[in-house]
Amino acid sequence: MVAFPLQMPGDGVKLFGFTVGHIHMDLGYFLAGEAGRITIPVTAYLIDHPKGLALFDSGLGARYARPANTPIDGIVDLAEGETIDCRLRAIGVDPADVRWIVASHLHVDHAGGNAYFPNATVIVQKAEYCHAFGEAEGDPVYDRADYDTGQPFLRIEGEHDLFGDGAVVVFPTPGHTPGHQSAKIRIEGAEVVLAGDCCSLRRSLEDLRLPEHCHDAGLFLSSLRRLAQMKRCGALVIPSHDPEVWAKVPKGVPILPGALVS
Ligand SMILES: [Zn+2]
Repeated sequence: MVAFPLQMPGDGVKLFGFTVGHIHMDLGYFLAGEAGRITIPVTAYLIDHPKGLALFDSGLGARYARPANTPIDGIVDLAEGETIDCRLRAIGVDPADVRWIVASHLHVDHAGGNAYFPNATVIVQKAEYCHAFGEAEGDPVYDRADYDTGQPFLRIEGEHDLFGDGAVVVFPTPGHTPGHQSAKIRIEGAEVVLAGDCCSLRRSLEDLRLPEHCHDAGLFLSSLRRLAQMKRCGALVIPSHDPEVWAKVPKGVPILPGALVS
């Protein structure tokens, strides 16, 4: 007699996306050699698993928040109510209930909201932790005020199955930074990949294009190729900062895999 599992990985898992500000910057920052400027969304996610709540990245921090009725400065914009704590409260989630923050990496546009989650454990690759608390000192894209916020860190090396059931698996995608990581999430039988800055724009992955600056170009390309292979096998890869892709991702409601097929 064949025993069918009562529960499959991903059953009962919900994924929510949030826009946590915008940044206006050179396109070459993402695609080497490209001229012009681009306005990108800053993105963060809530993963609602039967065993607890987790964030994937926390967006820009409060110091970037623009008071209501003041003009946009033209580079970074985080309007009132756009910080990740406000985004969660708007859907009835108390930031104090978040148990984990999976940090793709510790740059200012990915870890800026960590302080809003006092009861969370921050999950980072050990290489990212060591870099952020070591040689990144003085690098303007790393600010200890974002990530030296008192919560415990879980420093991992390699893959990490967050809930032990295969529903949310964190995996290393180094290159953009020494310890960059992405996450694959099973939803309704589909595999959704939150790429982080391993793949900032759709074209990064489609054309295997590197940015002008990265920590390690060879590792970056290997990580991009890994994502490309996952995509060929059917994974739905969401870039971190692609305005057109992000426009199609529903915000503040569960993301259904069908919405990600273009
Ligand atoms: Zn970024």
